[in-house]
Amino acid sequence: MNQGIVSLMKFLKPYILIKDPKEVLKEYRQLRNEIDARCTQLHREHKNHTQCRKGCSGCCMDFRLLPVEFHYILNQIINKRVEVNLVHEKGECVFLVNDTCSIYEHRPVICRSHGLPILFTDEKFNNLSLTFCPLNFKDVPDDYFSLENSYDQDTYNQKLFSINQSFIKTFQDEQYAEKQMIEMSRLVGCLG
Ligand code: SF4
Repeated sequence: MNQGIVSLMKFLKPYILIKDPKEVLKEYRQLRNEIDARCTQLHREHKNHTQCRKGCSGCCMDFRLLPVEFHYILNQIINKRVEVNLVHEKGECVFLVNDTCSIYEHRPVICRSHGLPILFTDEKFNNLSLTFCPLNFKDVPDDYFSLENSYDQDTYNQKLFSINQSFIKTFQDEQYAEKQMIEMSRLVGCLG
């Protein structure tokens, strides 16, 4: 490429790529709504084979979040009274209080597909795999699951990753690395 064009692109890069963080957080919210709609549809479809209910917390753990999600949730809960479990064991979610999620409305994307059949690429074997909660789907035939009735985790994660890339570029001091993730429990330290 012409050296002059390369220099011009370097000069323009910040102006082309850096978005308003509020816009990026709005994109995250739209994606979350899309995921909620898909999960609601799948829960309806599988309702005869699932036992998910309030008080069942087998899927909960201290998940790691991309910065865009960490900051979105922080913005939602920072001025609210949020119950946290300060005596949780390592790896347990701090927002699981008496087997109930204290930030349910604002819970991250990964928690929204709890209980559903999840399709994902197994990076070790590089093939498409399916996972589901052992309490659910006890009585389904072997050919019950399909691409159409499972949650396509890879597609949604790719969208989330792309939104996160835009988000981390809004920090001028390059605060976050490309693949950096943050334990959800660190939200508590930011609540003051
Ligand atoms: S945020 Fe809520 S749903 Fe997600 S792991 Fe924690 S307690 Fe469970």
